[in-house]
Amino acid sequence: MKDCLFCKIASGEIPTEKIYEDEQICAFFDIAPQAKTHFLVIPKKHIANLMELKETDAPLMGQLLYQAEELAKKLGLEENGARFVFNCKEDGGQTVSHIHLHVLGGRKLSWPPG
Ligand code: AMP
Ligand code: ZN
Repeated sequence: MKDCLFCKIASGEIPTEKIYEDEQICAFFDIAPQAKTHFLVIPKKHIANLMELKETDAPLMGQLLYQAEELAKKLGLEENGARFVFNCKEDGGQTVSHIHLHVLGGRKLSWPPG
């Protein structure tokens, strides 16, 4: 989608070092990390937020989740675990309107969120 930051990252229009990429999804480190390890996994297809998902997006989102946990393991987060988060719309704290899964690890995170 025109004027979407993460569509531009996915297409390469904004050069970003990808830590994973296939036909459907890609992953890259967050520009403002909130933990020692903080990366984002996104579908290349523009979907604004989690509540816009269609049933036909289920395989895509399954692939996204699977690759997120594989990357988390590769980056050394398996032993202590990590936080996997989708912020959704205003109350969820979403600032970029293109679905992205945050993966945060390398420190103990608090709960509940503020
Ligand atoms: P959210 O607030 O859940 O929408 O998360 C958006 C995330 O995108 C934030 O954690 C930002 O730091 C991150 N972000 C914004 N621009 C970039 C960028 N160019 N490259 C990597 N991460 C970004
Ligand atoms: Zn987009």
